Amino acid sequence: MAAPARPKAISAIREFDLIRKLQQRYSTHSPWVHRSIGDDAAVIAPAKHRRQLLTTDLLAERVHFDLTTATFADIGFRAGVANLSDIAAMGGTPEYLLVSLAIPHSGTRRQVSELYRGMMAACRSHKVRLIGGDTSASASGWFINLTLVGSAIPRHVLLRSGARIGDELYVTGTLGDSLAGLKLLQASQRGTDKRPLTPRHRRFLIRRHLRPTARILEGRWLSAKWATSAIDISDGLSGDLRHICEESRVGAEIYLPALPISPACRFYAKSIKQDPVTLALAGGEDYELLFTVPARRRARFERATAAHRLQITRIGRITPARSGLCMIMQNGQRRLLPFTSFEHFRPTM
Ligand code: ADP
Ligand code: MG
Repeated sequence: MAAPARPKAISAIREFDLIRKLQQRYSTHSPWVHRSIGDDAAVIAPAKHRRQLLTTDLLAERVHFDLTTATFADIGFRAGVANLSDIAAMGGTPEYLLVSLAIPHSGTRRQVSELYRGMMAACRSHKVRLIGGDTSASASGWFINLTLVGSAIPRHVLLRSGARIGDELYVTGTLGDSLAGLKLLQASQRGTDKRPLTPRHRRFLIRRHLRPTARILEGRWLSAKWATSAIDISDGLSGDLRHICEESRVGAEIYLPALPISPACRFYAKSIKQDPVTLALAGGEDYELLFTVPARRRARFERATAAHRLQITRIGRITPARSGLCMIMQNGQRRLLPFTSFEHFRPTM
């Protein structure tokens, strides 16, 4: 029997080989990109009368992702969405991507190309162009750094600091799905996934974890007309709401019964005998937008979201800073919002 072909280690991938592949596969021309992959630096013409938005994200193996529960394409996709989502939360349009990789000796060509496939799939519908990056060997595990450049009309840039007392608090989509999906993947990894969840609900939650959606269109629409502040939910609702409150120097109250939770997430919570609200409050990486709208515009705003068929839920309002961050329970009781964040659920931290 012939010995199985040994996967080609990254040390065998000459760096310029990789760069040439990336150039062939992804380089595009446009009047705004004078040079992309292939020179010492990319050369772009900044769009006139716009603000540039720059965001970067570093992902370390076993800290931010785990090769036992995600493929390289999934990891690339999620890395893309994490950056796109930051631009969405600023009300911007994503434009250019730079990718730096540190590749362990066990890394293969196929893994690198799957990673880019996932990243570019997340970016494709937004016409983001890959314009450069850097490549290194790693002595221990993968490191994946994305830098995304975008832009926005100056007066539309959405900050965390714009929330005002009395503003209504809203969120897009549903909360907690990604955490439920991650827990399902971890349970099946441990062989303890024997929960009575339908295959459809299971697939939905896992997809929400592995293939989240960055709310780019929503962010732009909100920033142009409605929102006073916004943040994307990457650490969990309670943690990210805290960021808005700190930056805006206000307090907030959220109505727990109003939190948007998908049927799949409710079933999952029931199956592990947990309150779905706990998942919705703590679950990070949903990449939904949390934002504020002035109270006097509430009726018009809600009519407009219905007309645009946007899934948006009012979950609370902004209060004076001295009231702190509160939650209002089903029975009307008011309590301080516990400080839980997605970090507490990470298996490796
Ligand atoms: P330098 O030595 O000047 O850093 P490199 O040889 O690292 O140049 O890079 C050559 C070109 O390839 C540059 O345009 C760079 O942006 C691009 N590049 C290098 N690594 C990557 C990568 N992992 N992804 C995308 N582009 C890359
Ligand atoms: Mg380099």
